[in-house]
Amino acid sequence: MEKNKPGPRKGPHTITQGEKNMNYAEIKNVDVANGPGVRVSLFVSGCPHHCPGCFNPESWDFGFGKPFDQAAMDEIIQLLKPDYIKGFSVLGGEPFAPENQEQVMDIVCRVRETYPDKEIWCWTGYKYEDLVRDKVGNHSHELLMQIDVLVDGPFIEAKKDLGLRFRGSSNQRIINVPASLLTHSIVQWEDRHS
Ligand code: SF4
Repeated sequence: MEKNKPGPRKGPHTITQGEKNMNYAEIKNVDVANGPGVRVSLFVSGCPHHCPGCFNPESWDFGFGKPFDQAAMDEIIQLLKPDYIKGFSVLGGEPFAPENQEQVMDIVCRVRETYPDKEIWCWTGYKYEDLVRDKVGNHSHELLMQIDVLVDGPFIEAKKDLGLRFRGSSNQRIINVPASLLTHSIVQWEDRHS
């Protein structure tokens, strides 16, 4: 995947303070459940999908948790520093909600710039096809370009499968984003380490 790795977006990536701020529920410093290896994870607040059986319904509220500020950004950058941290995962809530897109993009761009070799994974209830066509908010395609792996689609209780890795229901896909963008088709992520 390294060959197609997304490049950092040009421009400043400061975290804006004030009313534009996205809220977040949690930053996990050692997460071994959401993506391969040991990772740092950010759980953003706000989700419009309201999937029945959602594992995290308190995160539907965009006002849940606390505002994501510069201190939270600096904390993530610090936590990602050790070599044993393989990557950064963004979950929710809904990172691709139009209300969250701009700030999530600032965050992943800052991570990408600082640690170009650490993989960025993102979970969304939207489908890749809608994000790549910019049907959701104003920045979904641009944000996709900064992500290595996308786990997409809503959680569907009837398709729930506890045996699945990194996803809750079998309709959800684990997508190699750079390869998919390059080939204009869905390329599933392959775990080369298992
Ligand atoms: S997309 Fe995720 S966070 Fe949002 S309602 Fe569905 S399962 Fe819950």
